[in-house]
Amino acid sequence: MPAETYEILDDRFARLVHKSAHLEKLWTGSRWAEGPAYFPAGRYLVWSDIPNDRLMRYDETDGSVSTFMQPAMNQNGHTVDRQGRLVACEHRGRCVSRIEHDGTRKVLADRHDGKRFNSPNDVVVKSDGSIWFTDPSYGIDSDYEGDAAPHEVDGCHVYRIDAATGAVSAALTDYEKPNGLAFSPDERYLYVADTGISHRKDGPRHIRVHDVGADGRTLGPGRVFATCDVGVFDGFRFDISGNLWTSTGAGVSCYAPDGTLIGKIAVPEVVANLCFGGPKRNRLYVCATTSLYSIFVNAHGATWPS
Ligand code: MG
Repeated sequence: MPAETYEILDDRFARLVHKSAHLEKLWTGSRWAEGPAYFPAGRYLVWSDIPNDRLMRYDETDGSVSTFMQPAMNQNGHTVDRQGRLVACEHRGRCVSRIEHDGTRKVLADRHDGKRFNSPNDVVVKSDGSIWFTDPSYGIDSDYEGDAAPHEVDGCHVYRIDAATGAVSAALTDYEKPNGLAFSPDERYLYVADTGISHRKDGPRHIRVHDVGADGRTLGPGRVFATCDVGVFDGFRFDISGNLWTSTGAGVSCYAPDGTLIGKIAVPEVVANLCFGGPKRNRLYVCATTSLYSIFVNAHGATWPS
C-alpha cells in the first residue's frame, strides 16, 4: 500500500480508516464520472458518465462493469430512495426523474413557477419522502454535458419536492452554483456545496450548513462549514457518526461534525462524487473523472440506501 494514501490530520480520522486498506481502481474509461448510487438489494453501483451520456453499473458480486443506460439524458447525480428506486438528476431532461419499480421513467419535477430548471445536479431524499435537489447551470452552459440553452429560472437554486403533493418550492435562493447536498444523519441540518468559483474568479468553493426548522422543511440562513483547499467540493455523503466525506480536486476529504478537516484519502484523479456501499455499507465508492475507485473504511454510510 502506498504510504501516501492517507493524510491523517486528526486522531479521529485514524480510527475511521484501515491503514492496510488501499485504494482500488475498479474501472476506467469514462470522461466525467459522477452520480454514484448503491443498491444494497442487488449489490451493484450505478454511476454517470455525463459527457458520454450513459450510466454505468458495477456488479459487486463479480466485479464486472456494463452499460446500464445509454442514452441517459446526460444524467448527473443520483440517489436511491427508501423504496429502492433510482432518483436521477437529468441535465438534458432538465428535470428530476425516477425509475419506477416496473422500469418506466417518471418525471418528478421539471419546472418552478412555469419556468424550466437549468440542469439538476445532485439530489437527496429526506426520511419524510421529500426530494431536495440543486440546479446549477452546468448542463445548459454548453453542449458537452447536456444541451446548451438559455436560463429560464432566475438564478441557480436549491429546490424541494413535496412528498405528498409533488409541489416544487425554492428552498435556498442565495447560492451561485449549488452542487452536492446531504442532510446530517439526524436531519437537523442540510449541507450544500457551492461551486461558484467555476464561473467567477473569487466565487465560492465551500459547503454551507443550514438549520432545518421544526417543520422539517424551513431552512435557516446557513453558515460556511468548510472551504475547499484543492479544487471544489462537488458531491458528498455522511457516515453514521456525522462525519462528512467529500470529493475534492485531490481526492476525498473527511470533516468531523464540528467542521474540522480530520483527514484525506489521495486519489490520482479529480473526484466528483462518492457514496457508501457494500453489504456492510463500509465501502466508499469514488467517482473520479475517468475512473471508478473504491476503498474500505472503518465508517458506515448514514443514509441507506444512499
Ligand atoms: Mg455535482
